[in-house]
Formats: sequence, C-alpha cells, structure tokens
Amino acid sequence: MTRRGLLALGAGLVSARALPTPKIKEVSVIATEPAGVRLIVVKITTDQDGLYGYGCATFTQRADAVVVAVNNYLRPFLLGKPTDNIDDIWHACYASSYWRNGPVLNNAISGVDMALWDIKGRQAGMPVYELLGGKCREGADCYTHASGREISETLDQARQILARGFRNVRVQVDTPGMEGYGSAHGGTPITGLRPGPVFESQPYMKRALKLLDAARTQLGDDVGLLHDVHERVTPIEAVRFAKEMERFNLFFLEDVLSPEDIDYFRMIRQQCATQLAMGELFNSPHEWTPLISGRLIDFMRMHVSQTGGLTPARKIAAMGEQFGVRTAWHGPGDVSPIGHACNATLDVVCYNFGIQEYSAFNDRTREVFSGCPRCENGYLYPNDAPGWGIEVDERAAAKYPFGYGESGDRKRLNGGWGEIRRRDGQIIEQ
Ligand code: MG
Repeated sequence: MTRRGLLALGAGLVSARALPTPKIKEVSVIATEPAGVRLIVVKITTDQDGLYGYGCATFTQRADAVVVAVNNYLRPFLLGKPTDNIDDIWHACYASSYWRNGPVLNNAISGVDMALWDIKGRQAGMPVYELLGGKCREGADCYTHASGREISETLDQARQILARGFRNVRVQVDTPGMEGYGSAHGGTPITGLRPGPVFESQPYMKRALKLLDAARTQLGDDVGLLHDVHERVTPIEAVRFAKEMERFNLFFLEDVLSPEDIDYFRMIRQQCATQLAMGELFNSPHEWTPLISGRLIDFMRMHVSQTGGLTPARKIAAMGEQFGVRTAWHGPGDVSPIGHACNATLDVVCYNFGIQEYSAFNDRTREVFSGCPRCENGYLYPNDAPGWGIEVDERAAAKYPFGYGESGDRKRLNGGWGEIRRRDGQIIEQ
C-alpha cells in the first residue's frame, strides 16, 4: 500500500480491504407478522452496490413505537455515516437520546447494530461468527417447549420432543381455571372480583412441583428439564420454590424473580443450588453487572434484540465467562430469524455458552426469511453464508402485515398483552 493509502486508511477513509468505506444511504423498517407475532427488521442500505444488512429490533408488544424510533430518530442520525466502526455507531446512537436504556430505544439500536454486523460480514465474505474469532463449538444444544392442560399431556409432548433428538425440554402445565404461563388453558375459569383471567401463585407452585416430579420420574435422569416461572410469584415464595425444585436437578429455573426483586437472588443462592436463569426482561446492558459479578445466577437470558444488539451482548457474555455465568439467549417466537441468527452466532463463539431456546419457524416465516438457522437433532447451526446469511423477501413480508392472524385482546391492543389479576382483583406481573 502506498503512503497515501496508509494515511487514508488511518483516517478511516478507506476500509482495510482498500475499498472505499461504505456510507449509510438508507435506513428502513420491515414490519411483518408471518407467525402471529409482530416482527421488526431494520434494513441498512449503503452507497455501495448490493451492500446492505438486516438487524432485529423486535418488541412485539410496542412494535409501532420502535418503528417510529428507527424512522424518525435513528434514520436521520445515521444517514451518511460510514458503516465501518460499529462500536462507535452503537455508542453514538446510545448517547444521542440523552435518556437511554429503555425498551423501544434499545430495540431500535439493536436493529441498527445487527444490520451493521451483517454488512461487515457481507463485505468480508464471511459469516459473522468468523468476524468474532470463529467457532468454539459446532452447534448449539437447544431446548424447546412442552406444555399441556394436564401433566400427562405435557409429558406426552416432551416425549415427542425428545424423540426428535432434543436432549432438553422446558415443561409447563396449566393450573385449572387459571391463566397459566406457557400452557394451554383448561377447566372452568375461576371468577375473581374483577372480570378477566385469574392467577394465584400457590396453586400454580403446587401444580408445577407435581409436574417436575412426574417429568423427572417418567422422562428419566438424563433429560435436561427447564421451567419458566415468568416472575409470577412473590420474592419469598420464589426462595421456597427454588429450594423445593432443587431435588429435580433442573437445567435451569427461569425468571423466578421479577427484575424489580433481583436482590432476593442472594437469598436463594444461600439456600439451594438450583440453577437459575434470568434477564430476558432487562433493558440495560448494565443490569447484568451485579448478578454476574456476584455469581448470583447461572445463565444470562438476554433478549439480544432488546438490549442493544450483538455489540453489548458479546461484551456481557465475555464478562460472564470471567465469573462462570453461561449464556441462554432468549429465543422465543418474538425474535425474528435475524435475531435467532445473532443468537446462534453468539452460541458458537462464546466459550461460556450454556443452552439455546429454540422456536421452530413456520412456512410463512421461511417464505419471508430465507436462510434461517437450522436445527437438527436438537442442535442449532448458524448459516455459513456471509453476514447472517439471511435474505428478506420484502414483498412476502408485506403479505403479513401487523395484525395478521391476530384476534381478541391482541388485536384490540395493537399487539399488546391484556390483564391478569389475582382473585381479589390485584394486577400481576406476567
Ligand atoms: Mg421466559
């Protein structure tokens, strides 16, 4: 390289491959609902022919707000900026609202961040996992969900999942008459002092303990069993519940506390060795620091499309490695295939990988997104094409607008969630 070339490289005017640094020419949003859940994808187009990238900014319950955050605030902020310095752009976006670390704004940044990583991979002709140092495992061991109105129904589903090659399964069962989490509803709905669904923690906990007892007895000692509390019990109930679950040797107990009550993790830790997963509701990357540095949880359960994207996720994962805390990135239906590709990428590059939640993609989702991560025998594999290796068919996406396939409260609330109350009418966190 000539001296002039070296000077230009130092000034950030040309990329390391001696091509001009791409500049952001357009930032747009693809809003689609191919599987009954509102997905948001940010597309960044550069001034170089055919060079663009996709990122996941999904926040299904407040999707329209994220669309505005991208279109009205990040788009004008980003137009014309070079794409090369992803960490710099992340911090610039983060600081540009002054108030920061909320849902909506961090989702919007997640979409931008992942799109820039996609662009960098496409520039390099490499999958993103190569840019991060390459794989330290071949595939990501996954779990998926079994649920039922009755314990027997949940266990039948779990057996089917194990027969498909999975080694780990999350089990949930309905509490008759109540609005359970992650299970079909059965029995005559309990009537409370306010109209609408009812949930009480005591019957739920008794039922869940019976489920795990049956699951461990009937599915055997070698199955990785997981259970999600979804923050629906009081803090001291959570302490007792975690202790009672210890005998079932869970792979993890998820969200036994709400983010508002995380100081109770110390109490749980002092009393049992149940493996704990936490954090899908965290907004700020900084919420992880006390739980990881205090060794108060075993698995970080980050929603990468919520916390700010790949850039903060890999930093928090690296911090976790120093403290023996493993990853379990949030992987439900309300993450787009781009977000799942980001999860799968982190899975194969993080030494402190723990497990990956897997949700199958339906045919409509595959019509919109080609190149989705592949799951075989319970292992998830990232695509090995450049970037995330995913293409989005925007015409197909437009066939499934927000609201597609929704009904009832979901539709009335514009994708938001309804209310669940205790029998006496008090609202619960859900
Ligand atoms: Mg959960």
